[in-house]
Amino acid sequence: MPARRSFSIIACVLASWQLVRSQPADLRTKVDQWVQANQRALVSSLVDLLSIPNVAADRENIRRNAMLLRDQLAARGFTAEILETAGNPLVFGEFHVPGATRTILFYEHYDGQPVNPRDWRQPSPFTPILRDGRMEDGAKEIPNGLTTLRTFDPEMRIYARSASDDKSPFIAFCAALDVMKALGIRPTSNIKLILDGEEEAGSPSLVPAISKYRDRLSADVMYILDGPLHPSGQPTVVFGARGNLAIELTVYGPKFALHSGHYGNWAPNPAMRLAQLLATMKDEQGRVTIEGFYTGVTPLTAEEQAMLRAVPDDPTSLTKLFGIASPEREGLSLQEALQLPSLNVRGLSSAFVGADARTIIPDKAIAAIDVRLVKETPADRMARLVRDHISRQGWHIVDREPDDATRAKFSKIVRIAARGGTNAYRTSPLLPISKQTVSALAGVFGQPPVQIRTSGGTVPITPFIEALGFPAMSLPIVNFDNNQHGENENLRLGHFFRGVTTFAAILTM
Ligand SMILES: [Zn+2]
Repeated sequence: MPARRSFSIIACVLASWQLVRSQPADLRTKVDQWVQANQRALVSSLVDLLSIPNVAADRENIRRNAMLLRDQLAARGFTAEILETAGNPLVFGEFHVPGATRTILFYEHYDGQPVNPRDWRQPSPFTPILRDGRMEDGAKEIPNGLTTLRTFDPEMRIYARSASDDKSPFIAFCAALDVMKALGIRPTSNIKLILDGEEEAGSPSLVPAISKYRDRLSADVMYILDGPLHPSGQPTVVFGARGNLAIELTVYGPKFALHSGHYGNWAPNPAMRLAQLLATMKDEQGRVTIEGFYTGVTPLTAEEQAMLRAVPDDPTSLTKLFGIASPEREGLSLQEALQLPSLNVRGLSSAFVGADARTIIPDKAIAAIDVRLVKETPADRMARLVRDHISRQGWHIVDREPDDATRAKFSKIVRIAARGGTNAYRTSPLLPISKQTVSALAGVFGQPPVQIRTSGGTVPITPFIEALGFPAMSLPIVNFDNNQHGENENLRLGHFFRGVTTFAAILTM
């Protein structure tokens, strides 16, 4: 009930909705003023939504979230409905603007990562609290701040699951609609929203839902309202994300561990052989040496190179923060590195180390690898290339524990398990819609946003983007240090309030 009340306070304040022309800088001032005057209601709306638990496996509460979201869209004149899927429901809303020739589909998710309440420094991840800054910097809780304060310092943070990932963008989006209505500014595009209830569980129902609801999902462009801003805190547009392929290699030695004194130099050591195999995959300069690994990766245009150079990364502070002397590959900036597929050993295991180390020849050695993919290097091809490379090094490849006959026949045996292939996506930053997006944000904020051609991480909705077939890009609004997915997730309120302007800029471009 309280949820519905605070939402409708905003919705009801709105009166007429006529078309008013507004200059971008002017728009920012007006939105800022409105947000300043409505901070209390905005925060209450967010708190109401955060108070409904949203772990994907919690079907009952997931549905409560979905119904609240649907009602909020309906209160703003959207045709809003809950779309059933094989898993958690999707929430869909549509708003038709007379005369508009472009349709924008906005994607968000309303589920959150699972929680372990004992790890949170507050009674419950679903009972939001307010702090006067970042907890790790010693910020204190402001008792009852969320219910009593009328205005909020931009440095204040709300702590709750999904405060940043991914409920606040929905509230900021609704606020953008509300402020535009209050100012008499009509959206320049038809608006559609699709809200996913299973993103943190890998969005298994999203792609199957396309065939069922394809007519509803047609649009000219999709904006993903998820993820953090660039660490500089500047407005950010993200045009793509790398994919991921997980590969596990198990190299076999003797059937059981042997005494290294009795058999060292005679029985082959699987840890050493695995190390030798891995060493064939990357050279000392950090270049992957698997044949075809970089095939198809397009050279960057001068414009794209300029875009990468303009990203305000700070390699000096990063190397200091991480305690490394220099990047792996000389002459490659962080942004340039993210445009390429990577091969990363994410874990190694064989027998024991430290106090548990024993004088043995281990029976096996395991390497867990992840291959980050770019658009030109699909997961299935990369899995094949890795396999072919290993085969060319003289290894016999198996897909289960080798039997005695296999052990007798082959001296180098490796088991390969590949799974979790998610492709990359990328929308060309050179498309007209990409440029319009950038100039819309540049207009209201007075300087171009940070443009990320490809972000390093992987988003599970890439198959959804591929299946829809129209350009997609991310428009994040939240702080990068939000403890997303971990305990003590938080949202910096200054970022939240500015997000309203970001969405108003897109809705009026
Ligand atoms: Zn998210």
